Amino acid sequence: MERTDVSMKRVVIIGAGLGGLSAAIYLSRDGYDVTVLEKRNHPGGKLHKETVGDASFDFGPNTITMPDVFQDVLTYGGDKRPLPFVKLRDHTMNYFERSAPLLFSSDERTMKEQLSQSDYTAFQQYKKTVARIFHMSKTHFFTRSFTSWRDYLHPRLSVALASVKPFSTMHAFHRSLFRDERFVQALDRYATYVGSSPYQVPATFTMIAHLEFNDGVYYVRGGNTEIAKRLEACAKENGVSFHYGEEATSLRTNKKEITEVITQNERSYASDHVILNGDLLTQTNKLLKTSPSTDPSFTPSSSAFVMMLRNDQPQKNLQHHHQVYFANDYKREFHELFKAKRYVDKPTIYISNSSMTDKSQRRHGDNLYVLVNAPALSDSLIYDNETYRSLIFQRLQTFGVNLQYDHQMKTFTPMDIAREFGAYKGAIYGLSSNSVRQAFLRPFNASTTFNNLTFTGGSTHPGGGSPLVVISGKLAASHTKKMTVH
Ligand SMILES: Cc1cc2nc3c(=O)[nH]c(=O)nc-3n(C[C@H](O)[C@H](O)[C@H](O)COP(=O)(O)OP(=O)(O)OC[C@H]3O[C@@H](n4cnc5c(N)ncnc54)[C@H](O)[C@@H]3O)c2cc1C
Repeated sequence: MERTDVSMKRVVIIGAGLGGLSAAIYLSRDGYDVTVLEKRNHPGGKLHKETVGDASFDFGPNTITMPDVFQDVLTYGGDKRPLPFVKLRDHTMNYFERSAPLLFSSDERTMKEQLSQSDYTAFQQYKKTVARIFHMSKTHFFTRSFTSWRDYLHPRLSVALASVKPFSTMHAFHRSLFRDERFVQALDRYATYVGSSPYQVPATFTMIAHLEFNDGVYYVRGGNTEIAKRLEACAKENGVSFHYGEEATSLRTNKKEITEVITQNERSYASDHVILNGDLLTQTNKLLKTSPSTDPSFTPSSSAFVMMLRNDQPQKNLQHHHQVYFANDYKREFHELFKAKRYVDKPTIYISNSSMTDKSQRRHGDNLYVLVNAPALSDSLIYDNETYRSLIFQRLQTFGVNLQYDHQMKTFTPMDIAREFGAYKGAIYGLSSNSVRQAFLRPFNASTTFNNLTFTGGSTHPGGGSPLVVISGKLAASHTKKMTVH
């Protein structure tokens, strides 16, 4: 077979998010001439560093799972130095309004001490089940690219699908196994890791529990943003050229091929192949002047209301890297988010205090990253940020956490997430996984409009969440290779 010299092949990647960085490394290492265009002024997209006075924060991923996925890209790119992952043992303290807290730990004894004998026995079986679901999903779904309907017709896929509990909801599955309401609620929260509701999301996503309990919860010393920095450095080592402050605004095309990517600065980048890492749901419309090949009835994932602030008063209930303060009525919370589409008046609140693990994030005192799930943008979504900030502070008081207003604090609303990252309706994870259809039929990795356009990132297959996005970069790179090497 005659092979094309790939060094002559120019790939333009639109977006330096985790998906774009990962694709850039896989392709440049294999000899492609890769250019990355990024409208912001840093790599990593949603994963980037924010500062408030002397405190540093990771915007985006605070909880890191599947560390090997990140390390594998670097290794492929020739960077053998390990990322400084720290495995968090007692990683998440869950607080409840009317009952004792429950600590999530990778330590067996800690879990055993907190659960009743029957729930602990059920938990042992649960960990085996979620491990099996994870391995089936990994083999058959998220390490395979889906570029057309044909990819869904493989007979082994339907057997695999049937075995990963797609037709039970996450909540129903947890309820059928455990008696402790606190345990059910804290496990149900894993649905929010894919921006979805535990009352709707298929139980397949209990595989997240496998990652946390069997595999572990991680943090990168120096801040998770180090991942993006290291990926960018590795890509540069392999010859990738990065252009920041360059927003792709249009495409020059010839029949079913994109020949050039044009930016807002009216520069033009010639391309043999294009990878779109920007949100598929907003950028295809803008760049291709077509709507994405997704059903208009598809619903976006949840968004977030995020506050980053400093705290100098030691607080009893704020002593872990991750803590969650649960609302009593969890069902109502998800009804508000996905059905009523309004801000939740008694929300569950998540706080990351990474200074507990890493003093480089704040030497004296806490760096508090406070996140409340918020609905995706809609015409009816109106809220005064000041009022919502006060409501969150008041809610925290009921858990004994008294925070002072930090005059330098930063707030990101769904509107900010939509504007800053071009995220569809401010959704954190692209589409929600609130149905079997949305969970398993995400937008394909290949364009149906152009032969030389591939998609990577949280809005396409296999889904949102930082490790899956990095995997999607690898899938986009292998699809690009298939399309360019004859
Ligand atoms: C508040 C929040 C909390 C999160 N928490 C977690 C967590 O705890 N754990 C976890 O695993 N994940 C978490 N995530 C999700 C995670 O951040 C994302 O899944 C992942 O970072 C998305 O990467 P991406 O490559 O798909 O997209 P992005 O990070 O959005 O990158 C896309 C890039 O493309 C650029 N771009 C878009 N259009 C253009 C254009 N036309 N021209 C040039 N550039 C363009 C954008 O500026 C952006 O930099 C969180 C996300 C948010 C917002």
